[in-house]
Amino acid sequence: MHTADVAIIGGGIVGSSIAYHLVSQGCKNVLVIERERAQGKGSTGKSMGGVRAQFSTPVNIQMSLYSIPFYANFEERLGYPCDYRPQGYLFCATSEKHIAYLRANYEKQVALGLKNVRLLAGDEIRSWFPQHREDDILGGSFCSSDGFVDPYSAMIGFMTWASDHGAMLWKSATVTGISRYEGCFEIATTRDRVSARTVVNCAGAWSAGIAKMVGIELPVEPLRRMLVPTEPFDQFPHTAPMIIDMSNGFHFRPEGRGFLLAWNDPKETPGYKTDFEPAFIEKILTLAADRVPVFENLAVNPKRAWAGLYEMTPDHHPILGESRDVPGFFFANGFSGHGVMHSPATGKIVSDLILTGKTDLIDASLLNFARFAEGRMIHETAVL
Ligand SMILES: Cc1cc2nc3c(=O)[nH]c(=O)nc-3n(C[C@H](O)[C@H](O)[C@H](O)COP(=O)(O)OP(=O)(O)OC[C@H]3O[C@@H](n4cnc5c(N)ncnc54)[C@H](O)[C@@H]3O)c2cc1C
Repeated sequence: MHTADVAIIGGGIVGSSIAYHLVSQGCKNVLVIERERAQGKGSTGKSMGGVRAQFSTPVNIQMSLYSIPFYANFEERLGYPCDYRPQGYLFCATSEKHIAYLRANYEKQVALGLKNVRLLAGDEIRSWFPQHREDDILGGSFCSSDGFVDPYSAMIGFMTWASDHGAMLWKSATVTGISRYEGCFEIATTRDRVSARTVVNCAGAWSAGIAKMVGIELPVEPLRRMLVPTEPFDQFPHTAPMIIDMSNGFHFRPEGRGFLLAWNDPKETPGYKTDFEPAFIEKILTLAADRVPVFENLAVNPKRAWAGLYEMTPDHHPILGESRDVPGFFFANGFSGHGVMHSPATGKIVSDLILTGKTDLIDASLLNFARFAEGRMIHETAVL
């Protein structure tokens, strides 16, 4: 039987960030249990790597206000790169309703201290990107400190730093059951049994299965998302931000010498589907060429496209903190597509809650599991 102070189930970016934050705050006996032979095979390795503070709810904005500066100083702090590229996010509005929505969000973002966000007139967007079809773009919102990171590098940086300073990572170790015995959890894995007073569920899209092992019904559902990288393409600037067409949700960003295209098909239904559907390519290329006519010339190799899973909650906010029904069992789940960008804040919040029972970063009660039973859901609408 192995003993740990904190056992973290799942070695994706969230489990790795929590390990880093625990160890950096002095809690060394941390064990991360990962079922795969390598880290990143869950959602982290499939992510688009976007990081933004342009959200609609104060708590999501606050989580980004911790996370983005953290990514900006990642290498200095941890000694490993995360490839933060502050190229921005540009939301393009095609209706007065969108304009009012962006203005309301902008006011909240600025009130909370976001400095680099501004509202743009349609003409300004047209002058930035003449390749764009902008006849229907009325205006937009741009934040220059939003941008992209390399999720795999950030995850490895968090975990390597934590391992170098005392944490342990078990790979090829699947958690198969959790029982409680005299105030401790006993975790059965395919490698060995583990005894720990504190367990953190960081199993991403699979977290409802882990919660069930301690008798909790966690409202986290897997939802497929597909991404299409293009072949090299030089008829649109590679300094471009993530550009979001608010009329239909199509968005894209530069990636290598080409672009990465994304669109969340509203017809997608929950389930563990990780196969890429070839018909998606035609759908997304149609949206791409409609917004950027030169994208008609894009070339795509279907073999390079991929699918992964978002972990959705009913209000599109994560579930963070200790279970009231199972003391010592913590959640860090349900990021609803924002787990990479919010992993630094999550690591800080969850490690604060484990070590001191409170955190200054957010009002943690807003994101606790009890909000569902108590009718306190807070809906995020800026989900891509
Ligand atoms: C196509 C796509 C695009 C995305 N784009 C963005 C983006 O631009 N920005 C952003 O912030 N987020 C984005 N996301 C979401 C983001 O990738 C996730 O929110 C984030 O990776 C979640 O991290 P995690 O560590 O919680 O989960 P994961 O990375 O899935 O890690 C969970 C780990 O738990 C392990 N595990 C599961 N069950 C067990 C078990 N029984 N025993 C042991 N280990 C177990 C898994 O193997 C896995 O490694 C995107 C996701 C997808 C799919």
